[in-house]
Amino acid sequence: MTDTNREIRLAARPKGMPDDSTFELVETPVPSPAEGEALVQNLYMSVDPAMRGRMNDVRSYSPPFEVGETLTGGAIGRVLESRDTALSSGELVTSNRGWREYFTAPASELARLEQGAQPLTHLLGVLGGTGFTAYVGMLDIGQPKAGETVFVSGAAGAVGSVAGQIAKLGDCRVIGSAGSDEKVDWLTRDLGFDAAFNYKTTPPDQALDGAAPDGVDVYFDNVGYEHLQAAIAHMNDFGRIVACGSISGYNSADPAHPRPGPDNLAFIVRKRITMRGFIVSDHADRRAAFRADMERWLAEGAVRARETVYEGIEQAPAAFLGLFDGSNTGKMLVRLAPEG
Ligand code: NDP
Repeated sequence: MTDTNREIRLAARPKGMPDDSTFELVETPVPSPAEGEALVQNLYMSVDPAMRGRMNDVRSYSPPFEVGETLTGGAIGRVLESRDTALSSGELVTSNRGWREYFTAPASELARLEQGAQPLTHLLGVLGGTGFTAYVGMLDIGQPKAGETVFVSGAAGAVGSVAGQIAKLGDCRVIGSAGSDEKVDWLTRDLGFDAAFNYKTTPPDQALDGAAPDGVDVYFDNVGYEHLQAAIAHMNDFGRIVACGSISGYNSADPAHPRPGPDNLAFIVRKRITMRGFIVSDHADRRAAFRADMERWLAEGAVRARETVYEGIEQAPAAFLGLFDGSNTGKMLVRLAPEG
């Protein structure tokens, strides 16, 4: 084992799109665990669009990252040394201490992982936070019924690809939007979406004219703005909009004053639309049901998951930036060390 840890710190708050100057790769000594702590080597870390919001100095449901601070995020690691009887070396744990190769933490802040039959990476994706977001958002917030039409934006991403498949399991007609023809093919050929379109070549409003001739009953919004405007225009009476995220606005230059959104909100009244935002961490009571259902769907092949994996801590900024240019299909992850 090396005695040097590498970690990524926030070098400066980005204005608009982050770039290399946003991040700083720093070397520190590998720390030693104190009594009650464990030393962990991270194997995988997650990068998530919501981390962009935390780079702004704006109050939200999670506190902002501080400049100079090591970034945080979901990670899976292996215990190398434990000074607490609750954990043994060799065990796998999840934590919120991504963006670094090694760290120490109180054993009480580390959750022991049972890998099960699925690949370890799934525990940060389809069986982790993004799969859970899709589950809660689609089933509890969207509440689609058999025969209804469901539209998912960001459909080839981690949340969207799972949300669309869950709606298919409920016998809905599912339409997805994504940013490349390859992603559109993946949605319709491999994931069973009924229709999909490339929003970069066909504007969402025009695409929905063709793909949703009978209107949309549930819109699962990962993107916001033009997608949301188009969805509102195509919603049926009593439709539901699941406000999950609006990634197309996350890099606005002035986070305190995001650019204006749709100008057709009057339809929400006329069509009696329900639009509901949610944050997945408010729904911990649904985690056990999610885990049981998702494990079964994966085992049956009813849900398929894909990951895009970058290699090495030095690639973590590129992986994060890749979320905003569509470099990922499915869940974006960074491998920090070999599993075996
Ligand atoms: P994804 O895996 O979907 O990655 C982001 C994708 O967004 C990219 O691959 C890209 O795909 C698309 N994208 C990026 N910029 C734009 C743009 N300007 N216009 C349209 N599409 C764009 O990320 P996640 O699945 O982790 O997150 C999806 C959404 O869910 C985000 O909005 C996120 O904030 C939200 N979220 C909400 C949670 C909650 O609790 N409410 C929890 C977790 C995530 P493409 O090639 O199609 O452009």
